[in-house]
Amino acid sequence: MTTETIDWIACAGADRSGAGPAGAGVIGGVLTAQSRRDRYGLSAASHAAQAPVEAITTDIGWRCLDARRYPFLAPTGAHMKATSDIALILKAASFAAHKHRDQRRRDAEATPYINHPIALASLLADEAGITDAEVLAAALLHDTIEDTLTTADELRAAFGERITSIVEEVTDDKSLPKAERKRLQEVHAPHASREAKLVKLADKTCNLRDLATTPPPDWDLARRRKYFDWAQRVVAGLRGTHAGLEALFDRAADGRP
Ligand code: ZN
Repeated sequence: MTTETIDWIACAGADRSGAGPAGAGVIGGVLTAQSRRDRYGLSAASHAAQAPVEAITTDIGWRCLDARRYPFLAPTGAHMKATSDIALILKAASFAAHKHRDQRRRDAEATPYINHPIALASLLADEAGITDAEVLAAALLHDTIEDTLTTADELRAAFGERITSIVEEVTDDKSLPKAERKRLQEVHAPHASREAKLVKLADKTCNLRDLATTPPPDWDLARRRKYFDWAQRVVAGLRGTHAGLEALFDRAADGRP
């Protein structure tokens, strides 16, 4: 049975009735009532009716932790801490890939959306030498609240406070008109935390690289130039954070059409 099949079965069971699919207990292994309560903060009365909770004992279990669809599965205790930096980064990559799974970038080839957060994390780690695993995880997760149904509470449960607050800092308020959101990015940039500034610098750099090499087919020259100029203004408020990263941004900005 593939991982995807297991995931599908586990989630389908939670979706269907809350009674749990046949075999869910086998998927995740059997936990005692007490250990379930300890790990997930479930009440004795509630966990009995929620067999799919077994599924979240596996490392794919968070896939079912969509707070809007399966609020009863959300853990209430401390976040499930990854066992190593590599595990954390892979967990973030996997979480983001799942959340963005139906989205595409706006380039002509409609590149899978997940390529973008991966490009940010890779730029930070490989080109700028950033080694803070929580910053790299935040880069992978940076668009999950803004562009998917992911909530801050869901991120907090899975990744903890520091990563969540970095993601929140780089998240636009989508209830505002686009022009206002863009203006606020310029206003807020100088006041962001160092960690959020790193992620923002990487985001703007990757976006300029994409815009220079694989622009959306419906963006004319004026619109592309306007985006480059706006990105320059936002980054003006981020300077003094990381010289290497800022140099990478400047190189990308040289690609202004
Ligand atoms: Zn982005």
